[in-house]
Amino acid sequence: MSEIRIMRIGHRPSRDKRVTTHVALSSRALGASSVYVDTKDPELEEVIKGVVERFGGDFTIKTGVKWQDAVKDFDGIVVHLTMYGQRLDESLPKIPVDKDIMIIAGAEKVPAEVYQRADFNISVGNQPHSEISALAIFLYAYTGGDSLYSDRGGKMTVVPNERGKTVVDNT
Ligand code: SAM
Repeated sequence: MSEIRIMRIGHRPSRDKRVTTHVALSSRALGASSVYVDTKDPELEEVIKGVVERFGGDFTIKTGVKWQDAVKDFDGIVVHLTMYGQRLDESLPKIPVDKDIMIIAGAEKVPAEVYQRADFNISVGNQPHSEISALAIFLYAYTGGDSLYSDRGGKMTVVPNERGKTVVDNT
């Protein structure tokens, strides 16, 4: 599977901390390898690094990265998620599987340049909802959910359980 990167734009540390945290955590859980966030937010970086530290994997976060710089240095397919985009089911088969992808997820107003630069503007339904749900559904459709129960070699492993909580301490 190709590498998946997420570019979160429009992040306002004072208002969006929780949503952007969930964008990053959902991305990690669903198979992305990294997230960039356009506004510098050291606190957000610490939260995500703490999860990686405990639950494992190689997921990285970098904040203070302009989307223009992220796409300039990226040799892959740029996907922008927007309710105005083309249908998910029709777009997915057109994305080359041998290329890395960078997925841009917005907050409120997304600049017109993003729509122009994206190789694909893709909608997850034509109703407004959320960058978290749009990303999660897109990633599930793109990866088939391959990473949902993958072993990440973390200090802690949560074992699926009919009831209650089973957490293995691997330290
Ligand atoms: N007008 C925005 C749009 O273009 O989708 C909705 C803003 S919404 C608060 C923030 C982000 O959620 C958007 O930038 C987009 O990434 C994502 N989003 C919301 N609804 C979506 C949908 N139906 N399909 C794909 N992405 C969506």
